[in-house]
Amino acid sequence: MTAKIIDGNAAARAVREGCKKRADALKERGITPGLAVIIVGDNPASRAYVRNKVKACAEVGVHSEMHEFESGCSEAAVLEEIERLNRDPGIHGILIQLPLPGHFHPERITQAVDPEKDVDGFTWRNLGALVSGHALFEPCTPRAVMALIDEAGAAIEGSHAVVVGRSAIVGKPVALMLTARNATVTVCHTKTRDLGRVTRLADILVVAAGRPELITGDMVKPGAVVLDVGINRVPGRGLVGDVHFASVRDVAAAITPVPGGVGPTTIAMLVANTVLAAERQAARTADQDARRGSALAGS
Ligand code: NAD
Repeated sequence: MTAKIIDGNAAARAVREGCKKRADALKERGITPGLAVIIVGDNPASRAYVRNKVKACAEVGVHSEMHEFESGCSEAAVLEEIERLNRDPGIHGILIQLPLPGHFHPERITQAVDPEKDVDGFTWRNLGALVSGHALFEPCTPRAVMALIDEAGAAIEGSHAVVVGRSAIVGKPVALMLTARNATVTVCHTKTRDLGRVTRLADILVVAAGRPELITGDMVKPGAVVLDVGINRVPGRGLVGDVHFASVRDVAAAITPVPGGVGPTTIAMLVANTVLAAERQAARTADQDARRGSALAGS
């Protein structure tokens, strides 16, 4: 069997097209969705990610602005900027580009973002609310994974999904979202015994371990749908996923490539969350105006 390649660039384009229509509708009401990106230091990979995010925003007519800090800056300076952006009515989404320099407490920074503007879905308010299906924003990479499973045409309900990785921003939220769609989910991590025995049970296999080519063809059930979240920079080879593409392609029914799979779709989901944030803000403003109007009429 040669797997169907799930085209993350095409999926991202489709998400952006939908976002553009929604952003245009907001503009007719005088609202331009706005994203602020905070970046600290000059990590080249982070810079490249931010450039791609800014470009995706521009394509759909979402305003984006970068707030750059030198790597030696204080946490207080960044926190002050986040507080300012939390209050800025022209900014609907705030993203903290990770990683932060070593002297930062990343959670102190990410948790300072107003949950209503937390388009990455990283605040505890939003991550925790995933448990009950009440997150204001679902995190972008897990959203991308779910969209690409749907794109592959895989039936999630009733399937056995195996997630390799249990990070708070990828593995655990993906597991919750798959559970919400009625999959039976197994989560693997570094202490899982005989990883291949578990991954071979998967109808849907999501790999987010950050280990180049951890999953090989012999660890995959024939006909499985495989989502490779990993992005590993391997000297001399460029970007490599967590899945050994050449061997898994011969076994799986469908597979995401790296690059060109989960990565671009994740960025499109960030734009989608920003448009959603602006729509919610617009609805709140319309609601307040209507209440003010009826109060005036009654006075
Ligand atoms: P992380 O380091 O926070 O978590 C990795 C998880 O994998 C841990 O729970 C760990 O227990 C598990 N793990 C590691 N080695 C394992 C092994 N040998 N067997 C079983 N489990 C193992 O990483 P993360 O933030 O979740 O990111 C995972 C990967 O996804 C990284 O390569 C990262 O660059 C990539 N990533 C990609 C996107 C995207 O947009 N495509 C977004 C976020 C992260």
